[in-house]
Amino acid sequence: MKFEIVVVGAGLAGATAARVLAEAGKKALVIEQHRHIAGHCHDYKDENGITIHTYGPHIFHTNNKKVWDFVNRFCDFHYYQHKVLSYVEGRLIPFPINRDTICEVFGVNIATYEVEEFLEKEVKKSKFNNPPKNFRDVVVSQVGERLYELFFKNYTIKQWERDPEELSPEVAKRIPIRTNRDDRYFSDKYQGIPKAGYTKMVENILNHPNIAVLTGVDYFEVRELFKPELTVYTGELDRFFDYAYGKLEYRSLRLELKTYDQEYYQPVAVVNYPNDYDWTRITEYKHFLNEKSDKTTVCFEYPLASGEPYYIVMTQDNMEKREKYMEQVRKLEESGEYLFVGRLAEYKYYNMDQVIEASIEKVQRWLKE
Ligand code: UDP
Repeated sequence: MKFEIVVVGAGLAGATAARVLAEAGKKALVIEQHRHIAGHCHDYKDENGITIHTYGPHIFHTNNKKVWDFVNRFCDFHYYQHKVLSYVEGRLIPFPINRDTICEVFGVNIATYEVEEFLEKEVKKSKFNNPPKNFRDVVVSQVGERLYELFFKNYTIKQWERDPEELSPEVAKRIPIRTNRDDRYFSDKYQGIPKAGYTKMVENILNHPNIAVLTGVDYFEVRELFKPELTVYTGELDRFFDYAYGKLEYRSLRLELKTYDQEYYQPVAVVNYPNDYDWTRITEYKHFLNEKSDKTTVCFEYPLASGEPYYIVMTQDNMEKREKYMEQVRKLEESGEYLFVGRLAEYKYYNMDQVIEASIEKVQRWLKE
């Protein structure tokens, strides 16, 4: 098969791009450096029949109908609404902050219509930059210093090894603040977990006669062998340019799996630990698909400065470097020979649905030009 397209990476960004191109009649070779497809949403079933997310918890949620329709072509979703509790002062308390969180923390009994006024008083007592300049400002300006210190400050320091004042406001905007009793982590219209797993979903996306996949191959070692019409790159942005403007920071995780001889470990899929222990959160995987077993497998997440790149780090320094790289990206994309898509290649704190959306849009635009 002669390939017109080389796609670097078989995660969501690469698989989606390959699929859209394949359906437009282009032959695509996907080159993946890991020995498996599906990137960081890779999952597998363990010996107890529990689906484990290899790189930590992944919950699919979107408000984008086009993205939802796209993924539903490749898998059936199990209805699942993600709930998180936060371990604070020895208690498991609903998170993100809602009316129940406030009632538990402050020992008050207030109605939904009273929450806004309660929070306003908390905010009034607090010091922050207005308009907000950083992570801390965004949170404190909404809920005040006490709730910030209990739920956000130390989690953020653990996760990013940074003072929250060094982090972009955007990171805080991922977490809603609610005045009602809605205790879901995400309020998106469409939410769920692929019944047969994310790996199967990505396998189905890639399953097209115009797509071939090579795993365990580093693109940078074989790139000279190809002269494609288009390269879709989904790897680390700085590596592509040989670190010309310096290294961008990516944060990693050490994920420790433990299996217990008991039916459940915790009441919900994820419990956050802002202030205690070295881990940030514990995920109990069987909750996602409501899997039944006498045993349960849980995952402790320990943030790491280096290793497999999971997260971009939204500090001013990194974002300025990103701009320089993106300037080069824009030039390459204008040439029509390259597209850069995904969390690593665009150095963006994307969720899964945003990766798929960006991939579909970039490729469709390229096809039109
Ligand atoms: N965060 C926090 N306390 C929490 C959960 C999150 O302070 O209990 C902050 C923290 O800085 C985290 C960010 O919000 O990195 C984004 O959280 P999210 O749950 O979206 O992180 P992800 O699932 O991407 O690891």
